Amino acid sequence: MPIDVNSEKCGYCGGCVVVCHDDAIELAEVNLIISNACTMCNACVVFCPVGALKSVDHERPV
Ligand code: SF4
Ligand code: SF4
Repeated sequence: MPIDVNSEKCGYCGGCVVVCHDDAIELAEVNLIISNACTMCNACVVFCPVGALKSVDHERPV
């Protein structure tokens, strides 16, 4: 997942779902799913009012 969701901070307001122009975020009750459609534009990270989203390094070893 290119975007990390901090489930302790996220209030599941759904705002980032609307902000994402690539339809890469899906809100399923209390679960936020970021798909591979994400282009790392960072709009959701900047938007989130509680700072629950963070972009993660694609290159890091798994
Ligand atoms: S904008 Fe932030 S608080 Fe709202 S659903 Fe997205 S990650 Fe959660
Ligand atoms: S970084 Fe951009 S493309 Fe990726 S989930 Fe957030 S708003 Fe959507």
